[in-house]
Amino acid sequence: MSSQIDRRTFMTALGSGAAALQAAESQTPPNGRSADKQVIGIQIGAISFLDEGTDKVLDILREKACVNTLFLATFTYGTGIAGRQIPGHPLPDHGVQAYDAHFHGGNFATPHPQYYRNTVIQDTKAPDHGNLDVLEMVIPAAQKHGMKVFSWSEDVWNPSVPNVEKIQEKDLYGRNAHTVCFNNPDHHNFLMGLMEDFTRSYDLDGIMWGSERYGAFGNMVESVHNPDGNDPSRVTCFCDFCRRKARERGINVDRAVEGFHTLEAWARACRSGQRPTDGYYVTLWRILFRYPEILAWETLWNDSVHETYEAIYKLVKSIKPRMQVGWHVWHAHSFSPFFRAQTDLKVLSRYSDYLKMTVYHNLGGTRMETYITSTRNTVLGDLPIDEALEFEYRIMNYRERGYPELPYTGLSPDYVYRETKRSVEDAQGTPMQIWPGIDVDISNMDPNFSRCTPPVIREVTQAAYRGGAQGLVISRKYSEMKLANLAAVGDALREMKIAL
Ligand SMILES: [Zn+2]
Repeated sequence: MSSQIDRRTFMTALGSGAAALQAAESQTPPNGRSADKQVIGIQIGAISFLDEGTDKVLDILREKACVNTLFLATFTYGTGIAGRQIPGHPLPDHGVQAYDAHFHGGNFATPHPQYYRNTVIQDTKAPDHGNLDVLEMVIPAAQKHGMKVFSWSEDVWNPSVPNVEKIQEKDLYGRNAHTVCFNNPDHHNFLMGLMEDFTRSYDLDGIMWGSERYGAFGNMVESVHNPDGNDPSRVTCFCDFCRRKARERGINVDRAVEGFHTLEAWARACRSGQRPTDGYYVTLWRILFRYPEILAWETLWNDSVHETYEAIYKLVKSIKPRMQVGWHVWHAHSFSPFFRAQTDLKVLSRYSDYLKMTVYHNLGGTRMETYITSTRNTVLGDLPIDEALEFEYRIMNYRERGYPELPYTGLSPDYVYRETKRSVEDAQGTPMQIWPGIDVDISNMDPNFSRCTPPVIREVTQAAYRGGAQGLVISRKYSEMKLANLAAVGDALREMKIAL
């Protein structure tokens, strides 16, 4: 699981922000309700309410950070959004001063069996807090405090879940991966059951779901976030369901598999330091020209994620049209030009009320360093590392520190401004709102790396609104945040008159 943890542990001009805010407020949200306060959200898990007391936590969140919406970690097997601080990282200045000894995860609400009739996945109740149902516990209290509640779920699984092997992806050699397949009916039906359960069983204001993954091409060429490691043979998905879907799309499955084997050999040679005679960049393209099926397979994988979005959206809206449905768009959109190309916000707007666009400034430093280190061994292998980073900054359209400095400085508020602005412009003309997810004390890998500080958090919050943010999601979880940094978010919001 360490790669899972690593994967996660990774304005000043106020005028335009205020104008954007007024524009946002004058619009009627897509859910048909009259415009109300914009979302100032925070991600938080059950443990914080148990450790500190529900009413007390809600008071802190409102007073310090003007929070009016909770993104409650409801389904996950990961410690990125649930549980206390990740072991080994500094504990915050609130809550129980100890790490979780036995975090397990799962569904922190109550699975109602009638919604899981069409799936082999039955036993997902999180055992961490006995029979506690986080939604049942928190929703009435939040309503009393005038706060909205969204369930927040992600596709991070645990190999010990009964029958999980039946929904796991298959790698290039047919072996089970740790990740689950979006084209597997038992997984799809489970996810639909879970979302229907949340929607019908609780008085929620919205749903957020997220998947932090690449397809097989991304994991071979970029690889840094693959939970099954950097082995280019451990990429997904090649299960029978995906093969069938590929055939239905007119993709020659044998050619695709042959292409991925060729790409695997290329990635392996590149990563072991063997420069191809004709260069890294050229020989990658040579393989792609020869096997366009590789890209068709990658598109199939990404489309399957987006089809999952669409299915959840339609399901929830068909039951409770007033609920807001949207997605956590993971950090890869800021680093990977391939993932950014695959993530067309105009297309996503057809089945998204909002996007939480991840713009973690501080963690972004180590993530950029890791991304460039990895791709400089493959697609960018012809370039010295500083020129690879220069190329990256040019094509992704922001400019930050040099390679050796990145982990010690993080990315700047200007990064948050640029990425928010890009997202808002991409979404223009659609009713979809952009709610940047900002970094408040997300655990960094090394204690010597940079940390969040109140002055920078204040600037980051301002930068998000200068970029046109229509809401905010304070990330990644309250149980790792320092109160002074939370207060810096609130100070900035009050100063901009976004919150009182
Ligand atoms: Zn599959």
